[in-house]
Amino acid sequence: MKPPSKQPIAEKLPRLRLRITAAAENHIRSGHPWVFADSVREQNRDAKPGELAVIFDRKDKFLAAGLFDPDSPIRVRVLHAGKPQALDVAWWTARLDAAVCRRDGLFEARTTGYRLINGESDGWPGLVLDRYGATFVLKLYTAAWLPRLNEIVVLIRERLLPERIVLRLSRNIQRTAESFGRGRHDGEILCGPELTESVVFLENGIRFEADVLRGQKTGFFLDQRENRREAGELARGREMLNAFSFSGGFSLYAARGGAKSVTDLDLSPHALAAAQRNFQLNSADPAIAGCSHECVQADAFDWLAGGDARRFGLIVLDPPSLAKREAERAGAIRAYTRLAESGIRRLAPDGLLLACSCSAHVSAEEFFGAVRQAAVNSGRRFVELKTTRHAPDHPATFKEADYLKGIFLKFKSLKAVS
Ligand code: SAH
Repeated sequence: MKPPSKQPIAEKLPRLRLRITAAAENHIRSGHPWVFADSVREQNRDAKPGELAVIFDRKDKFLAAGLFDPDSPIRVRVLHAGKPQALDVAWWTARLDAAVCRRDGLFEARTTGYRLINGESDGWPGLVLDRYGATFVLKLYTAAWLPRLNEIVVLIRERLLPERIVLRLSRNIQRTAESFGRGRHDGEILCGPELTESVVFLENGIRFEADVLRGQKTGFFLDQRENRREAGELARGREMLNAFSFSGGFSLYAARGGAKSVTDLDLSPHALAAAQRNFQLNSADPAIAGCSHECVQADAFDWLAGGDARRFGLIVLDPPSLAKREAERAGAIRAYTRLAESGIRRLAPDGLLLACSCSAHVSAEEFFGAVRQAAVNSGRRFVELKTTRHAPDHPATFKEADYLKGIFLKFKSLKAVS
């Protein structure tokens, strides 16, 4: 009798081969990283999440290789397109190094929280790696990474020497992950010491806590760092309203920038409690300690539209995504206009507005148009200071990844345009 083979069973199966529609071939050639289930024309066999799929074109030539997922409408997430290439350890190492190199020189020692891998846009489809000091958070948005998780952890440990790696799983893959191998769960410590609470990191010298075990995204909205810095630089002498404040990120920058007062407005008591703690964490900074800080727990849409007469010199509107699906796009654009209108009504003479959108289904021009329309509707004179897009550690190389936009407006007076 032959001894049992040490090869995993998947290795014995024939290579998973796909053919896709002509339109999908063109998308892949132009750099798009997804093959949707309804673009697959031929598949030589059934396959499990995470198997390597090789896509051949109409002339039977290699087109791309990627991670297969039978349970997702995104059937293949492309890892490599172009010439055939062995995806061996050297290849994975080079890909990690490329993402790290892209961030070289972006941050000084005063910023220890930033994104190291931004999914598809860094060549790691459906995978995010954020750094909070010595704690790294690896977030998976597809079960296709589960079979490779151990190898990736080894690679990250070797190349980046984190003290600890925390695993976060998007909600839609948590059940699959629980039954994968010995089971994987959201908030699991993949390596390094146990953790029961938030970690503290630095952003432009300000101390913040991040709830890496349970918080939204990977524990903090790292994507808004540049907008927070800009808002902080405009805050001097102003009373600031931070609507949809989360843990007070914009408010701490405003306080350090010399704001007279800051008001955090959020629906979540947990977010507001974190904002209080973040102010305490920075109490050694005289500007932050000297700035009056108030929290309001309310629905920001209602609160802004309501009868409170107080006016603010700086208002930040940073709502959660208002269009989770394409069908919600038109409604979201109207909601952005209404929200900006309510915000502008609360602005003092010479007030500043920063309106942000994180809805990928609403384009930058649609969003900027909605906010500009609200400003025109107010009848007040205003100038547009600037618009902003993705931060450099959050590159977006294709349409679906391009979600973040911000617009700064400065109003001149309460007098109507003549
Ligand atoms: N500006 C923040 C991130 C905002 S995330 C930062 O820089 O970190 C969006 C926030 O909106 C979350 O904290 C969420 O609790 C809050 N939120 C969602 N719906 C809301 C509503 N209707 N009214 C007020 N806050 C809301």
